[in-house]
Amino acid sequence: MVNIKFFGAAQTVTGSCYLIESEIGNILIDCGMFQGKEIEYKNALPLQFDVKKINAVLLTHAHMDHSGMLPKLTKAGYKGKIYMTPPTSALATELLLDSAKIQEMKQNENKYSESMPLSLNSPIIYDTLDAINTIKLFNSCKFDEEISLGKDISFKFMRSGHILGAASISISILGKNILFSGDIGRVNQSIVIPFTKNMDDEKEYNCIIMESLYGGKIHPSKNEELAVFYDKINYTIKNYGNVIIPCFAVHRTQEIIEILHYGYINKLINKDVQIFLDSPLAQKATKIYTSFSSYLMKYNKIYKSSINYNDGVDIREENEKGGAVSNYENRFQFDVFKTINHSKQSLRLKNKKQSIIIAGSGMADGGRIVSHIANNIADHNSSILFVGFQAENTLGRALVEGSTKVFIKDKSYSVKANIHKFSSFSGHADNDELQQWLSMFNKSNNCKVVLTHSEVQNSTIFAKELKEKNIDVYIPTEGDSIII
Ligand SMILES: [Zn+2]
Repeated sequence: MVNIKFFGAAQTVTGSCYLIESEIGNILIDCGMFQGKEIEYKNALPLQFDVKKINAVLLTHAHMDHSGMLPKLTKAGYKGKIYMTPPTSALATELLLDSAKIQEMKQNENKYSESMPLSLNSPIIYDTLDAINTIKLFNSCKFDEEISLGKDISFKFMRSGHILGAASISISILGKNILFSGDIGRVNQSIVIPFTKNMDDEKEYNCIIMESLYGGKIHPSKNEELAVFYDKINYTIKNYGNVIIPCFAVHRTQEIIEILHYGYINKLINKDVQIFLDSPLAQKATKIYTSFSSYLMKYNKIYKSSINYNDGVDIREENEKGGAVSNYENRFQFDVFKTINHSKQSLRLKNKKQSIIIAGSGMADGGRIVSHIANNIADHNSSILFVGFQAENTLGRALVEGSTKVFIKDKSYSVKANIHKFSSFSGHADNDELQQWLSMFNKSNNCKVVLTHSEVQNSTIFAKELKEKNIDVYIPTEGDSIII
């Protein structure tokens, strides 16, 4: 008998953690952090399972809501392997060390982490040593390679296209085939290669556990939004203002750098601009994206004229007539793009004009971006461009909802800068792409599709669509379990 338990991301978006139990072994899929003011207390609760009975941990991707509680496992005595793809290993290493460092710092004062904003009264969950002990257990596996965990248990990572290294996981155990989607990316809208099914994967799945974040929603066109994005930048630069872009360190920052790179070399952006990336964590993530260039798209299809990244060969000349070109090595580098390391350098950006400043956090609820917003918010020539999700009770949410006055570090500011939110930069599949992903896989007659990682209203809409196709659908609650 095979049993699956849902410990997180059940009728909510964060805290992914699922346990497969069987008489021949127990496998944990993801061990993520709960994020958001109302549920982050759950991170400090005792684990709801016995770590000594876990035989292996599989990680879908590096985002903290999937990986952020792995050191808590190690701290509780887990000594087995943690399997993931090589880029996920590189990214998770940086994110877990950052998360541990900030937890240690906040014991004395209310500090901020780009990977994990924590409120002052959150207890410390793990420290740097716990993170290091966790990273030592990391075990990298290639996409599409079947890995045996013993007789009658094996697994395989397949591209899910969400961020660098992100995977869906196919698990075969006691003759049952189970598929975990992980987070599903967009199709031809991203710098990473989109989701694919291994051509020789003819398995019939008995259970498919899939994210449904944007069930019932269709993303707007990225091409149309890009034109608006460049317009907003040019208007601001022409008027001697600054463009402030709050941005998540992993993936969104790299996509925005590439969009700016494309705009600059194609003369879609004012040539007088200076661009600053003011985030050490995003710089580390960008280096990792560069070093795993074979996982990225060579031809970026989001632009009207394609941007070509030809491995090691500079074909700039050849493409003078058409799309912008670069090679992999300088994909995230161009002459007006500068990185900021030290906080003193960051403070000096206050005196800049005609600049684009990218910094974390993506929701402007902490980090270096807060000062940049404070410096520019009262200037009607400046712009603040939001390119990601803005949760409730954040400065970002207040601004995109049109607040005319906000408090930043206890000081009141009138909002005079231009505020704009872009919706098409999402790294998650929309309703049609979720359907497309699901349709790739063979399903057994009694296959159950389990919807997770979503607010219940969105998964309910998606469930209705699947039921109309006679698919057996289930939306679990936290603590639920199902028998396969
Ligand atoms: Zn994710």
